[in-house]
Amino acid sequence: SDLYRVDGWGAPYFSVNSSGDISVRPHGTDTLPHQEIDLLKVVKKASDPKNLGGLGLQMPLVVRFPDVLKNRLETLQSAFDMAINSQGYEAHYQGVYPVKCNQDRFVVEDIVKFGSTYRFGLEAGSKPELLLAMNCLSKGSADALLVCNGFKDTEYISLALVARKLLLNSVIVLEQEEELDLVIDISRKMSVRPVIGLRAKLRTKHSGHFGSTSGEKGKFGLTTTQILRVVKKLDESGMLDCLQLLHFHIGSQIPTTELLADGVGEATQIYSELVRLGAGMKFIDIGGGLGIDYDGSKSSNSDVSVGYGIEEYASAVVQAVLYVCDRKGVKHPVICSESGRAIVSHHSILIFEAVSASTTHVSTQPSSGGLQSLVETLNEDARADYRNLSAAAVRGEYDTCLIYSDQLKQRCVEQFKDGSLDIEQLAAVDSICEWVSKAIGVADPVRTYHVNLSVFTSIPDFWGFSQLFPIVPIHRLDEKPTMRGILSDLTCDSDGKVDKFIGGESSLPLHEIGSGDGGRYYLGMFLGGAYEEALGGLHNLFGGPSVVRVMQSDSPHSFAVTRSVPGPSCADVLRAMQFEPELMFETLKHRAEEFLEQGEGEGEGLAFGSLTSSLAQSFHNMPYLSSCCFTAE
Ligand code: PLP
Repeated sequence: SDLYRVDGWGAPYFSVNSSGDISVRPHGTDTLPHQEIDLLKVVKKASDPKNLGGLGLQMPLVVRFPDVLKNRLETLQSAFDMAINSQGYEAHYQGVYPVKCNQDRFVVEDIVKFGSTYRFGLEAGSKPELLLAMNCLSKGSADALLVCNGFKDTEYISLALVARKLLLNSVIVLEQEEELDLVIDISRKMSVRPVIGLRAKLRTKHSGHFGSTSGEKGKFGLTTTQILRVVKKLDESGMLDCLQLLHFHIGSQIPTTELLADGVGEATQIYSELVRLGAGMKFIDIGGGLGIDYDGSKSSNSDVSVGYGIEEYASAVVQAVLYVCDRKGVKHPVICSESGRAIVSHHSILIFEAVSASTTHVSTQPSSGGLQSLVETLNEDARADYRNLSAAAVRGEYDTCLIYSDQLKQRCVEQFKDGSLDIEQLAAVDSICEWVSKAIGVADPVRTYHVNLSVFTSIPDFWGFSQLFPIVPIHRLDEKPTMRGILSDLTCDSDGKVDKFIGGESSLPLHEIGSGDGGRYYLGMFLGGAYEEALGGLHNLFGGPSVVRVMQSDSPHSFAVTRSVPGPSCADVLRAMQFEPELMFETLKHRAEEFLEQGEGEGEGLAFGSLTSSLAQSFHNMPYLSSCCFTAE
């Protein structure tokens, strides 16, 4: 497991069990040994056509563990409760989940259900997010906050006020000064007293990739001058009591608690000033940013890791708010956070299969006669390269061999282009170079593993800005990997590959495909429960993965699949591009009728029935490779 640092990034939820499989501990440190779930068994059950009512799910597959979500939420809540109690803070913590991190209905519903005892609420950043949050919170705690962030128009503000009419605790957070006039105007027309928050543009700046939303030039929030104008206007409108929440967001993946405390301290000063100016302040909403240690390094100077844990985060926040409020004599506000990544990252695992791996087909040593006639065809320069390559190989000089072999190949390609070498001769030159490299041990040991996946759809943050996620075979971890590989996906796009891995590696230790576990080789991408699912696109028309929801069942070491949803079919992804699959099918069927009747169709003897049923199946199946196509080399 050390090879893949599972103990570093996986604790307390993932480890390697005695069978060499990844084991999931859904309740974190509270998981009893008999409650551990073997991930390979889940994958086998989900994909086996004999299970799940006869429906084997196609890969790729997202496996969700709601118990992990519950544990994350409880861990966050108890970290704040502990910091509040130990520091004598005189108000409580109540978080909200920013739904943009993962809007899946069942994820949001689970969070609302698990969080109802803690007044846990939701944050929305657009109208559809607000609609889904209103719907889900209707079943949650009456005190839970519904924080409305993002750019707002009349409709968005009206909807947030409708939420208040429905006795939901919506807070309209002003991101831009212009939103205030709309809020005053619409709330009067609707006769609803709004609860207003404002997002402050802090001077504290987080310098990592995720910090571009922070600092004076950040995209969002109000400057101090704008904040003062908002206060004045609310006062003049007799609505200063409505201003109850101060919000800020330094950026995701806040690297250190020092930076966090700095930002929270600055925001608490603004909060205290708003209290002094007569606003009805009650809440300080510190935004998101609680980080995830994707590579297990606990390092504070990289985007893929953070140098603190949840307890240290909560303690730093409480301490910073407490310090400023006590110095200013301000009543302690309710602390709210919008942690997204920290709540949902661990709960889902993306499983995909490596279907084949490139092999270097090393040829046998060319015969001396063949060599002789080839060398005679080479031009003067290429012949000199060949002689130098042979001499360097005899002396065992690796680097020199590489130089002459590249040079020789290049010159031969030129000769091929001008027609003085034929295709067999060009192939023979490649073989010679490969053979020499292999003979002196400089052959490229990194293979390309072809994976049944779209990087664009399922790991968009890797494609977009090289965000790294731990990727690990979920089985055979008791077997030493004999290869190193990069992962190449199904899309016809050179960006569709993963060639950077945690720990700064440019390849991943991998096993030979085709031995063990029925020739199947399953990999898991972990910690991708936040952002990846909603950001993914439809490049090459590969849609999302199948999804299963897995709970522990009563008997030891067993689990139940409580929900299974096949991924979008070819028809579904075509529909997303405005095609009408039903019509397409009819058109193709009609064509088949016409041509088969006239006996003009290709492949005589192919019955109309089997042709149309294979067409229908193509619309019905997912766009990914179906397992019958796998050709493990
Ligand atoms: N709140 C706001 C306003 C955000 O912009 C974000 C994300 O960037 C979040 C909360 C969630 O942040 P994180 O996932 O880092 O907790």
